[in-house]
Amino acid sequence: MKTADLKKIRKYMEKNLDYKRFEHTLGVAYTASALAMCHDEDISKAQIAGLLHDCAKCLPDEKKINICEKHNIQINDIERNNPFLLHAKAGSYIAMEKFGIHDRDIINAILNHTTGRPGMSKLEKIIYIADYIEPGRKQAPNLSCIRKLAFKDLDQALLKILEDTLLYLQETASQMDPMTQKTYDFYKETIL
Ligand code: FE
Ligand code: FE
Repeated sequence: MKTADLKKIRKYMEKNLDYKRFEHTLGVAYTASALAMCHDEDISKAQIAGLLHDCAKCLPDEKKINICEKHNIQINDIERNNPFLLHAKAGSYIAMEKFGIHDRDIINAILNHTTGRPGMSKLEKIIYIADYIEPGRKQAPNLSCIRKLAFKDLDQALLKILEDTLLYLQETASQMDPMTQKTYDFYKETIL
């Protein structure tokens, strides 16, 4: 992708996200490109996926639901009750339609950035991790340890994030997309 296209995406994000979410987006894009350098992934794909991962975040809930319904994207019960979860699905649609991105790996990285999935690609892992560790994140426990780990071993960092996320969801009694648990179980089995 050309620099001009990256600029276009940045402009769109700046216009369509609130200030905090836009700062987060830039943080994820930079962190993802650094992780790509470290782990031999395509830097430009990491930048594009990082910039676009939350592109549907600030749409009204009805709009996210609409996009999914109109384009036959399945909405599960958890998503129906917590439409913010749909920003990943709606976002991958916007990336394809509005920005003409058809690279399967980039689309999957956007699509799976909230829950992960068993058998993630390297790029999907990088975006999932960058979303959690970008410099603007402050509150998660073990952040400094996970940040270091991410530049040594993507899988170990991924597993730790999934574990802490599940704990957090349990502690706050939040509704959980069962995919998060499935992803954790998969990596717990395959990594250790
Ligand atoms: Fe997100
Ligand atoms: Fe995000």
